[in-house]
Amino acid sequence: MTFLVHNSLTGRKEPFEPLEPERVRMYNCGPTVYSRAHIGNFRAYLFADVLRRWLEHIGMEVVQVMNITDVGHFTDDDEDGGEDKLEARARREGVDPWKISEEYTRVFFEDLERLGCLPAAVYPKATDHIAEMLEMIEGLLASGHAYERGGNVYFDVTRFDRYGRLSKNRVEDLDAGARIAVNEEKRHPADFALWKSDPHHLMKWESRFGPDGFPGWHIECSAMARKHLGDRIDIHTGGEDNVFPHHECEIAQSEAFTGEPFATYWMHTKFLQVDGGKMSKSLGNVYSIDDVVERGFEPRVLRYTLLRGHYRQPLNFTWEIMADSRKALGGLDDLVGRLRGVCDGRGAAADEGAGEELVAAAAGEFEAAMNDDLNTPRALAALFGLGAPVREGRLGARAAGASLGLFAAADAVLGIVDLGDGGPGGDPDDDAAIQALVDARREARAQRDFAEGDRLRDELLGRGILLEDTADGTVWRRR
Ligand code: AMP
Ligand code: ZN
Repeated sequence: MTFLVHNSLTGRKEPFEPLEPERVRMYNCGPTVYSRAHIGNFRAYLFADVLRRWLEHIGMEVVQVMNITDVGHFTDDDEDGGEDKLEARARREGVDPWKISEEYTRVFFEDLERLGCLPAAVYPKATDHIAEMLEMIEGLLASGHAYERGGNVYFDVTRFDRYGRLSKNRVEDLDAGARIAVNEEKRHPADFALWKSDPHHLMKWESRFGPDGFPGWHIECSAMARKHLGDRIDIHTGGEDNVFPHHECEIAQSEAFTGEPFATYWMHTKFLQVDGGKMSKSLGNVYSIDDVVERGFEPRVLRYTLLRGHYRQPLNFTWEIMADSRKALGGLDDLVGRLRGVCDGRGAAADEGAGEELVAAAAGEFEAAMNDDLNTPRALAALFGLGAPVREGRLGARAAGASLGLFAAADAVLGIVDLGDGGPGGDPDDDAAIQALVDARREARAQRDFAEGDRLRDELLGRGILLEDTADGTVWRRR
Protein backbone atom coordinates (compact mmCIF):
# COMPACT_ATOMS: atom_id res chain seq x y z
CA MET A 1 0.00 0.00 0.00
CA THR A 2 1.25 3.47 -0.80
CA PHE A 3 1.62 6.06 1.92
CA LEU A 4 0.01 9.28 0.68
CA VAL A 5 1.04 12.55 2.28
CA HIS A 6 -0.37 16.01 1.75
CA ASN A 7 2.43 18.25 0.54
CA SER A 8 1.87 21.95 1.28
CA LEU A 9 4.30 22.78 -1.50
CA THR A 10 2.08 21.32 -4.22
CA GLY A 11 -1.23 21.43 -2.34
CA ARG A 12 -1.79 17.76 -3.21
CA LYS A 13 -1.65 14.35 -1.65
CA GLU A 14 1.36 12.55 -3.09
CA PRO A 15 2.84 9.07 -2.71
CA PHE A 16 5.67 9.23 -0.22
CA GLU A 17 9.04 8.38 -1.73
CA PRO A 18 12.18 9.08 0.27
CA LEU A 19 15.35 10.32 -1.43
CA GLU A 20 17.18 7.21 -0.24
CA PRO A 21 15.31 3.91 -0.23
CA GLU A 22 13.80 3.12 3.16
CA ARG A 23 15.58 5.97 4.93
CA VAL A 24 13.76 9.16 5.86
CA ARG A 25 15.35 12.43 6.85
CA MET A 26 12.81 14.49 8.74
CA TYR A 27 13.11 17.94 10.33
CA ASN A 28 10.47 19.23 12.75
CA CYS A 29 10.35 22.87 13.77
CA GLY A 30 10.57 22.65 17.53
CA PRO A 31 9.78 24.94 20.43
CA THR A 32 10.95 28.44 21.16
CA VAL A 33 11.96 27.90 24.75
CA TYR A 34 10.89 31.19 26.32
CA SER A 35 7.82 29.71 27.98
CA ARG A 36 6.20 26.39 28.56
CA ALA A 37 4.94 24.62 25.45
CA HIS A 38 1.12 24.50 25.39
CA ILE A 39 -1.25 21.80 24.19
CA GLY A 40 -1.47 23.54 20.79
CA ASN A 41 2.28 23.25 20.32
CA PHE A 42 1.97 19.61 21.27
CA ARG A 43 -0.51 19.06 18.47
CA ALA A 44 2.36 19.86 16.10
CA TYR A 45 4.93 17.71 17.95
CA LEU A 46 2.55 14.80 18.39
CA PHE A 47 1.84 14.87 14.67
CA ALA A 48 5.60 14.62 14.04
CA ASP A 49 5.79 11.70 16.47
CA VAL A 50 2.94 9.77 14.85
CA LEU A 51 4.34 10.48 11.39
CA ARG A 52 7.70 9.11 12.48
CA ARG A 53 6.11 6.05 14.07
CA TRP A 54 4.02 5.37 10.95
CA LEU A 55 7.07 5.65 8.70
CA GLU A 56 8.82 3.14 10.94
CA HIS A 57 5.76 0.92 10.85
CA ILE A 58 5.91 0.78 7.05
CA GLY A 59 9.55 -0.21 7.21
CA MET A 60 11.50 3.03 7.02
CA GLU A 61 14.43 4.04 9.11
CA VAL A 62 13.69 7.58 10.28
CA VAL A 63 16.28 10.16 11.25
CA GLN A 64 14.21 12.69 13.15
CA VAL A 65 15.63 16.08 14.04
CA MET A 66 13.69 18.59 16.13
CA ASN A 67 15.31 21.91 16.90
CA ILE A 68 15.22 24.04 20.00
CA THR A 69 14.94 27.75 19.22
CA ASP A 70 16.80 29.53 22.01
CA VAL A 71 17.54 32.83 20.29
CA GLY A 72 16.29 35.03 17.49
CA HIS A 73 12.54 34.25 17.33
CA PHE A 74 10.73 37.57 17.38
CA THR A 75 7.41 38.41 19.01
CA ASP A 76 6.19 39.70 15.67
CA ASP A 77 6.59 38.25 12.18
CA ASP A 78 7.75 41.71 11.28
CA GLU A 79 11.21 41.46 12.77
CA ASP A 80 11.67 45.23 12.44
CA GLY A 81 8.92 45.85 14.96
CA GLY A 82 9.19 42.83 17.22
CA GLU A 83 11.46 41.79 20.01
CA ASP A 84 13.35 38.54 20.63
CA LYS A 85 10.88 36.35 22.56
CA LEU A 86 13.50 35.05 24.96
CA GLU A 87 15.03 38.41 25.60
CA ALA A 88 11.65 40.07 26.09
CA ARG A 89 10.92 37.62 28.86
CA ALA A 90 14.40 37.89 30.37
CA ARG A 91 14.15 41.68 30.52
CA ARG A 92 10.63 41.67 31.94
CA GLU A 93 11.61 39.31 34.72
CA GLY A 94 15.19 40.44 35.19
CA VAL A 95 16.44 36.88 34.55
CA ASP A 96 19.32 35.58 32.48
CA PRO A 97 17.94 34.46 29.07
CA TRP A 98 20.26 31.41 29.10
CA LYS A 99 18.63 30.26 32.35
CA ILE A 100 15.17 30.69 30.87
CA SER A 101 15.95 28.63 27.79
CA GLU A 102 17.67 25.95 29.84
CA GLU A 103 14.71 25.60 32.17
CA TYR A 104 12.05 25.48 29.44
CA THR A 105 14.10 23.06 27.37
CA ARG A 106 14.22 20.73 30.35
CA VAL A 107 10.45 21.04 30.91
CA PHE A 108 9.84 20.51 27.19
CA PHE A 109 11.63 17.15 27.23
CA GLU A 110 9.69 16.10 30.32
CA ASP A 111 6.39 17.01 28.66
CA LEU A 112 7.29 15.23 25.44
CA GLU A 113 8.01 12.09 27.40
CA ARG A 114 4.81 12.37 29.39
CA LEU A 115 2.88 12.63 26.17
CA GLY A 116 4.55 9.44 24.98
CA CYS A 117 6.56 10.99 22.15
CA LEU A 118 9.62 9.01 21.11
CA PRO A 119 12.88 10.94 21.40
CA ALA A 120 14.21 12.42 18.16
CA ALA A 121 17.70 11.46 17.04
CA VAL A 122 18.95 14.99 17.71
CA TYR A 123 17.54 18.11 19.35
CA PRO A 124 19.92 20.77 18.05
CA LYS A 125 19.96 24.13 19.80
CA ALA A 126 20.23 27.28 17.73
CA THR A 127 22.89 28.77 20.03
CA ASP A 128 25.14 25.75 19.36
CA HIS A 129 25.05 26.36 15.59
CA ILE A 130 26.14 29.96 15.17
CA ALA A 131 29.19 28.93 13.09
CA GLU A 132 27.03 26.90 10.68
CA MET A 133 24.64 29.85 10.30
CA LEU A 134 27.49 32.25 9.59
CA GLU A 135 28.85 29.84 6.99
CA MET A 136 25.53 29.92 5.13
CA ILE A 137 25.27 33.69 5.48
CA GLU A 138 28.74 34.09 3.95
CA GLY A 139 27.73 31.84 1.08
CA LEU A 140 24.56 33.82 0.45
CA LEU A 141 26.52 37.09 0.48
CA ALA A 142 29.06 35.64 -1.95
CA SER A 143 26.37 34.48 -4.38
CA GLY A 144 24.59 37.83 -4.23
CA HIS A 145 21.45 36.48 -2.51
CA ALA A 146 22.17 38.58 0.56
CA TYR A 147 23.56 42.01 1.36
CA GLU A 148 24.91 43.76 4.42
CA ARG A 149 23.86 47.12 5.84
CA GLY A 150 25.42 48.44 9.01
CA GLY A 151 26.04 45.11 10.69
CA ASN A 152 22.73 43.62 9.54
CA VAL A 153 22.56 41.03 6.78
CA TYR A 154 19.37 40.64 4.76
CA PHE A 155 18.22 38.08 2.25
CA ASP A 156 17.21 39.72 -1.02
CA VAL A 157 13.89 38.09 -1.94
CA THR A 158 14.00 39.47 -5.48
CA ARG A 159 17.10 37.34 -6.14
CA PHE A 160 15.27 34.06 -5.51
CA ASP A 161 12.58 33.54 -8.11
CA ARG A 162 10.80 30.74 -6.28
CA TYR A 163 10.14 32.98 -3.25
CA GLY A 164 6.46 32.56 -2.45
CA ARG A 165 6.05 29.09 -3.95
CA LEU A 166 5.14 27.48 -0.62
CA SER A 167 2.93 30.22 0.83
CA LYS A 168 1.60 31.34 -2.58
CA ASN A 169 2.59 34.90 -1.71
CA ARG A 170 3.85 37.08 -4.52
CA VAL A 171 6.77 39.39 -3.92
CA GLU A 172 4.85 42.20 -5.67
CA ASP A 173 1.95 41.82 -3.24
CA LEU A 174 4.27 41.78 -0.25
CA ASP A 175 5.61 45.07 -1.54
CA ALA A 176 2.11 46.57 -1.68
CA GLY A 177 1.51 45.52 1.91
CA ALA A 178 4.65 47.24 3.15
CA ARG A 179 4.53 47.93 6.87
CA ILE A 180 4.03 51.36 8.32
CA ALA A 181 7.52 51.56 9.75
CA VAL A 182 9.67 51.04 6.68
CA ASN A 183 13.14 49.76 7.38
CA GLU A 184 15.25 52.02 5.18
CA GLU A 185 18.10 49.52 5.19
CA LYS A 186 16.20 46.93 3.21
CA ARG A 187 16.20 46.91 -0.55
CA HIS A 188 12.75 45.36 -0.55
CA PRO A 189 10.24 45.43 2.33
CA ALA A 190 9.93 41.62 2.17
CA ASP A 191 13.68 41.08 2.61
CA PHE A 192 14.33 39.33 5.87
CA ALA A 193 17.22 39.39 8.33
CA LEU A 194 19.80 36.62 8.38
CA TRP A 195 21.93 38.35 10.98
CA LYS A 196 21.27 41.35 13.17
CA SER A 197 23.48 43.62 15.20
CA ASP A 198 22.30 45.17 18.43
CA PRO A 199 24.52 46.17 21.34
CA HIS A 200 21.54 45.82 23.71
CA HIS A 201 20.82 42.21 22.78
CA LEU A 202 21.73 39.96 25.71
CA MET A 203 22.68 36.86 23.70
CA LYS A 204 25.20 37.96 21.12
CA TRP A 205 28.15 36.75 19.09
CA GLU A 206 31.08 38.40 17.47
CA SER A 207 31.51 38.10 13.72
CA ARG A 208 32.93 40.11 10.89
CA PHE A 209 29.66 42.06 10.89
CA GLY A 210 30.41 43.45 14.34
CA PRO A 211 30.78 42.48 17.99
CA ASP A 212 27.08 42.27 18.94
CA GLY A 213 25.35 40.06 16.44
CA PHE A 214 22.73 37.35 16.59
CA PRO A 215 20.97 35.21 13.96
CA GLY A 216 17.54 35.58 12.42
CA TRP A 217 15.10 32.77 13.28
CA HIS A 218 14.80 31.38 9.74
CA ILE A 219 18.52 30.84 9.11
CA GLU A 220 18.68 28.79 12.30
CA CYS A 221 16.48 26.03 10.92
CA SER A 222 18.18 26.06 7.51
CA ALA A 223 21.58 25.66 9.16
CA MET A 224 20.53 23.01 11.69
CA ALA A 225 18.68 20.94 9.09
CA ARG A 226 21.71 21.05 6.80
CA LYS A 227 24.15 20.17 9.58
CA HIS A 228 22.21 17.19 10.87
CA LEU A 229 20.41 15.91 7.77
CA GLY A 230 22.31 17.22 4.75
CA ASP A 231 21.49 19.59 1.90
CA ARG A 232 18.33 17.73 0.93
CA ILE A 233 15.75 16.32 3.28
CA ASP A 234 12.55 14.33 2.82
CA ILE A 235 10.08 15.91 5.22
CA HIS A 236 9.87 19.23 6.97
CA THR A 237 7.03 19.85 9.42
CA GLY A 238 5.58 22.64 11.54
CA GLY A 239 2.32 24.29 12.51
CA GLU A 240 0.32 26.14 9.87
CA ASP A 241 1.66 29.50 11.06
CA ASN A 242 5.16 28.38 10.07
CA VAL A 243 4.32 28.35 6.35
CA PHE A 244 4.93 32.07 6.08
CA PRO A 245 7.32 33.63 6.67
CA HIS A 246 9.38 30.94 8.43
CA HIS A 247 9.32 28.06 5.98
CA GLU A 248 9.16 30.26 2.90
CA CYS A 249 12.36 31.92 4.11
CA GLU A 250 14.00 28.61 4.97
CA ILE A 251 13.42 27.38 1.42
CA ALA A 252 14.87 30.57 -0.04
CA GLN A 253 18.02 30.45 2.10
CA SER A 254 18.68 26.71 1.81
CA GLU A 255 18.00 26.43 -1.90
CA ALA A 256 19.88 29.62 -2.77
CA PHE A 257 22.85 28.32 -0.77
CA THR A 258 22.98 24.70 -1.97
CA GLY A 259 21.42 25.11 -5.40
CA GLU A 260 19.29 22.04 -4.68
CA PRO A 261 15.70 21.50 -3.64
CA PHE A 262 15.55 21.58 0.18
CA ALA A 263 12.65 19.43 1.45
CA THR A 264 10.56 17.18 -0.80
CA TYR A 265 7.48 17.21 1.44
CA TRP A 266 6.26 20.07 3.62
CA MET A 267 3.62 19.05 6.14
CA HIS A 268 1.71 21.48 8.34
CA THR A 269 -0.57 20.95 11.30
CA LYS A 270 -3.69 23.06 11.67
CA PHE A 271 -3.97 25.01 14.88
CA LEU A 272 -5.63 23.57 17.92
CA GLN A 273 -8.40 25.77 19.27
CA VAL A 274 -9.56 25.88 22.86
CA ASP A 275 -13.21 26.48 23.78
CA GLY A 276 -13.89 27.20 20.12
CA GLY A 277 -11.35 30.01 19.75
CA LYS A 278 -7.74 30.99 19.90
CA MET A 279 -5.96 30.14 23.12
CA SER A 280 -5.22 33.27 25.07
CA LYS A 281 -3.59 34.28 28.31
CA SER A 282 -6.44 36.69 29.06
CA LEU A 283 -8.96 33.83 28.85
CA GLY A 284 -6.68 31.67 30.99
CA ASN A 285 -6.89 28.78 28.56
CA VAL A 286 -3.31 28.39 27.40
CA TYR A 287 -3.12 24.92 28.88
CA SER A 288 0.02 22.92 29.49
CA ILE A 289 0.41 19.20 30.14
CA ASP A 290 0.59 20.05 33.84
CA ASP A 291 -2.88 21.59 33.62
CA VAL A 292 -4.13 18.39 32.02
CA VAL A 293 -2.66 16.26 34.80
CA GLU A 294 -3.87 18.62 37.52
CA ARG A 295 -7.41 18.20 36.22
CA GLY A 296 -7.02 14.49 36.78
CA PHE A 297 -6.38 13.32 33.23
CA GLU A 298 -3.60 10.94 32.26
CA PRO A 299 -1.47 12.50 29.49
CA ARG A 300 -2.57 9.72 27.14
CA VAL A 301 -6.10 11.17 27.28
CA LEU A 302 -4.66 14.36 25.76
CA ARG A 303 -2.78 12.28 23.22
CA TYR A 304 -6.01 10.56 22.26
CA THR A 305 -7.91 13.87 22.12
CA LEU A 306 -5.32 15.32 19.77
CA LEU A 307 -5.49 12.24 17.54
CA ARG A 308 -9.29 12.32 17.33
CA GLY A 309 -8.99 14.96 14.64
CA HIS A 310 -7.09 14.74 11.38
CA TYR A 311 -4.00 16.95 11.56
CA ARG A 312 -5.15 19.11 8.63
CA GLN A 313 -8.58 19.74 10.11
CA PRO A 314 -9.31 22.32 12.79
CA LEU A 315 -9.60 20.71 16.20
CA ASN A 316 -11.25 22.06 19.30
CA PHE A 317 -10.21 21.31 22.87
CA THR A 318 -12.53 21.51 25.87
CA TRP A 319 -12.51 19.71 29.21
CA GLU A 320 -15.81 18.07 28.22
CA ILE A 321 -14.11 16.60 25.16
CA MET A 322 -11.33 15.36 27.43
CA ALA A 323 -13.87 13.65 29.70
CA ASP A 324 -15.43 12.08 26.63
CA SER A 325 -12.01 10.93 25.46
CA ARG A 326 -11.31 9.33 28.80
CA LYS A 327 -14.52 7.34 28.48
CA ALA A 328 -13.65 6.29 24.95
CA LEU A 329 -10.19 5.19 26.03
CA GLY A 330 -11.74 3.24 28.89
CA GLY A 331 -13.81 1.54 26.19
CA LEU A 332 -10.69 0.56 24.30
CA ASP A 333 -9.02 -0.72 27.46
CA ASP A 334 -12.17 -2.69 28.17
CA LEU A 335 -12.07 -4.14 24.68
CA VAL A 336 -8.50 -5.29 25.21
CA GLY A 337 -9.50 -6.91 28.51
CA ARG A 338 -12.36 -8.73 26.82
CA LEU A 339 -10.12 -9.87 23.98
CA ARG A 340 -7.71 -11.34 26.50
CA GLY A 341 -10.65 -13.12 28.07
CA VAL A 342 -11.70 -14.55 24.70
CA CYS A 343 -8.14 -15.72 24.10
CA ASP A 344 -8.35 -17.55 27.39
CA GLY A 345 -11.53 -19.21 26.18
CA ARG A 346 -14.05 -17.00 27.99
CA GLY A 347 -16.89 -15.27 26.13
CA ALA A 348 -15.67 -16.68 22.84
CA ALA A 349 -17.74 -17.84 19.89
CA ALA A 350 -18.06 -21.61 19.83
CA ASP A 351 -16.06 -21.79 16.62
CA GLU A 352 -12.52 -20.80 17.42
CA GLY A 353 -12.00 -19.49 13.86
CA ALA A 354 -15.07 -17.24 14.03
CA GLY A 355 -14.72 -13.56 13.23
CA GLU A 356 -11.29 -13.73 11.63
CA GLU A 357 -12.55 -11.87 8.56
CA LEU A 358 -13.80 -9.04 10.79
CA VAL A 359 -10.38 -8.59 12.31
CA ALA A 360 -8.64 -8.74 8.93
CA ALA A 361 -11.03 -6.04 7.66
CA ALA A 362 -10.36 -3.85 10.71
CA ALA A 363 -6.59 -4.26 10.28
CA GLY A 364 -6.89 -3.41 6.58
CA GLU A 365 -8.99 -0.36 7.36
CA PHE A 366 -6.51 0.80 10.01
CA GLU A 367 -3.63 0.57 7.50
CA ALA A 368 -5.62 2.25 4.76
CA ALA A 369 -6.59 5.12 7.05
CA MET A 370 -3.04 5.76 8.21
CA ASN A 371 -1.70 5.46 4.68
CA ASP A 372 -4.22 8.11 3.66
CA ASP A 373 -2.23 11.09 4.95
CA LEU A 374 -2.32 9.84 8.56
CA ASN A 375 -6.07 9.82 8.97
CA THR A 376 -6.01 9.05 12.69
CA PRO A 377 -9.77 9.50 13.35
CA ARG A 378 -10.53 6.91 10.67
CA ALA A 379 -7.85 4.61 12.08
CA LEU A 380 -9.36 4.89 15.57
CA ALA A 381 -12.81 4.14 14.17
CA ALA A 382 -11.40 0.92 12.72
CA LEU A 383 -10.30 -0.17 16.20
CA PHE A 384 -13.62 0.77 17.80
CA GLY A 385 -15.38 -1.18 15.06
CA LEU A 386 -14.28 -4.38 16.77
CA GLY A 387 -16.17 -3.41 19.92
CA ALA A 388 -19.58 -4.76 18.96
CA PRO A 389 -18.36 -8.13 17.59
CA VAL A 390 -16.35 -8.66 20.77
CA ARG A 391 -19.16 -7.68 23.13
CA GLU A 392 -21.59 -9.85 21.18
CA GLY A 393 -19.26 -12.82 21.45
CA ARG A 394 -18.78 -13.11 17.68
CA LEU A 395 -15.02 -13.66 17.84
CA GLY A 396 -13.31 -16.98 18.38
CA ALA A 397 -9.96 -17.38 20.13
CA ARG A 398 -7.91 -17.02 16.95
CA ALA A 399 -9.67 -13.79 15.94
CA ALA A 400 -9.22 -12.45 19.46
CA GLY A 401 -5.50 -13.17 19.27
CA ALA A 402 -5.30 -11.42 15.91
CA SER A 403 -7.21 -8.46 17.34
CA LEU A 404 -4.75 -8.16 20.18
CA GLY A 405 -1.99 -8.16 17.57
CA LEU A 406 -3.75 -5.34 15.76
CA PHE A 407 -4.10 -3.38 18.99
CA ALA A 408 -0.42 -3.82 19.77
CA ALA A 409 0.53 -2.64 16.27
CA ALA A 410 -1.88 0.30 16.52
CA ASP A 411 -0.48 1.16 19.91
CA ALA A 412 3.06 1.23 18.57
CA VAL A 413 1.86 3.99 16.23
CA LEU A 414 -0.80 5.86 18.21
CA GLY A 415 0.51 5.20 21.72
CA ILE A 416 -2.85 5.42 23.46
CA VAL A 417 -4.21 1.95 24.08
CA ASP A 418 -3.52 0.70 27.53
CA LEU A 419 -1.96 -2.66 26.90
CA GLY A 420 0.29 -2.60 29.90
CA ASP A 421 -0.21 -2.33 33.60
CA GLY A 422 -2.43 0.75 33.37
CA GLY A 423 -6.05 -0.02 34.10
CA PRO A 424 -7.96 1.94 36.68
CA GLY A 425 -5.97 3.76 39.32
CA GLY A 426 -5.94 2.79 42.95
CA ASP A 427 -8.59 5.07 44.39
CA PRO A 428 -10.76 3.66 47.19
CA ASP A 429 -14.10 4.29 45.46
CA ASP A 430 -12.88 2.23 42.59
CA ASP A 431 -11.71 -0.50 44.94
CA ALA A 432 -15.20 -0.66 46.40
CA ALA A 433 -16.74 -0.98 42.95
CA ILE A 434 -14.33 -3.75 42.06
CA GLN A 435 -14.98 -5.60 45.29
CA ALA A 436 -18.70 -5.39 44.54
CA LEU A 437 -18.16 -7.05 41.16
CA VAL A 438 -15.95 -9.71 42.72
CA ASP A 439 -18.67 -10.39 45.30
CA ALA A 440 -21.32 -10.53 42.61
CA ARG A 441 -19.28 -13.09 40.70
CA ARG A 442 -18.84 -15.22 43.83
CA GLU A 443 -22.58 -15.05 44.41
CA ALA A 444 -23.33 -16.02 40.79
CA ARG A 445 -21.03 -19.00 41.01
CA ALA A 446 -22.56 -19.99 44.33
CA GLN A 447 -25.93 -19.99 42.50
CA ARG A 448 -24.24 -22.14 39.78
CA ASP A 449 -24.83 -19.35 37.23
CA PHE A 450 -21.44 -19.85 35.59
CA ALA A 451 -22.29 -17.79 32.52
CA GLU A 452 -22.96 -14.73 34.69
CA GLY A 453 -19.84 -15.52 36.69
CA ASP A 454 -17.75 -15.52 33.50
CA ARG A 455 -19.36 -12.33 32.29
CA LEU A 456 -18.43 -10.61 35.53
CA ARG A 457 -14.92 -11.97 35.34
CA ASP A 458 -14.58 -10.48 31.82
CA GLU A 459 -15.92 -7.18 32.98
CA LEU A 460 -13.28 -7.10 35.70
CA LEU A 461 -10.61 -8.10 33.21
CA GLY A 462 -11.73 -5.25 31.02
CA ARG A 463 -11.06 -2.94 33.94
CA GLY A 464 -7.60 -4.37 34.25
CA ILE A 465 -8.42 -6.63 37.20
CA LEU A 466 -7.05 -10.14 37.49
CA LEU A 467 -8.77 -12.69 39.72
CA GLU A 468 -7.28 -15.62 41.51
CA ASP A 469 -9.51 -18.20 43.10
CA THR A 470 -7.81 -19.55 46.19
CA ALA A 471 -8.93 -21.86 48.97
CA ASP A 472 -9.67 -18.77 51.05
CA GLY A 473 -11.84 -17.18 48.42
CA THR A 474 -11.13 -14.89 45.47
CA VAL A 475 -8.32 -12.36 45.59
CA TRP A 476 -7.92 -9.66 42.97
CA ARG A 477 -5.11 -7.47 41.79
CA ARG A 478 -4.54 -4.85 39.12
CA ARG A 479 -2.92 -5.96 35.91
P1 AMP B 1 6.79 28.27 18.75
O1 AMP B 1 7.28 27.79 20.08
O2 AMP B 1 5.95 29.50 18.83
O3 AMP B 1 7.91 28.40 17.76
O4 AMP B 1 5.81 27.16 18.19
C1 AMP B 1 6.20 25.82 18.15
C2 AMP B 1 5.34 25.02 17.19
O5 AMP B 1 4.00 24.91 17.65
C3 AMP B 1 5.28 25.59 15.80
O6 AMP B 1 5.41 24.53 14.87
C4 AMP B 1 3.90 26.21 15.74
O7 AMP B 1 3.43 26.26 14.42
C5 AMP B 1 3.10 25.25 16.59
N1 AMP B 1 1.88 25.82 17.18
C6 AMP B 1 1.77 26.96 17.88
N2 AMP B 1 0.50 27.15 18.31
C7 AMP B 1 -0.21 26.08 17.87
C8 AMP B 1 -1.60 25.66 17.99
N3 AMP B 1 -2.50 26.37 18.65
N4 AMP B 1 -1.95 24.50 17.40
C9 AMP B 1 -1.05 23.75 16.73
N5 AMP B 1 0.25 24.08 16.60
C10 AMP B 1 0.68 25.23 17.16
ZN1 ZN C 1 11.96 26.20 12.12
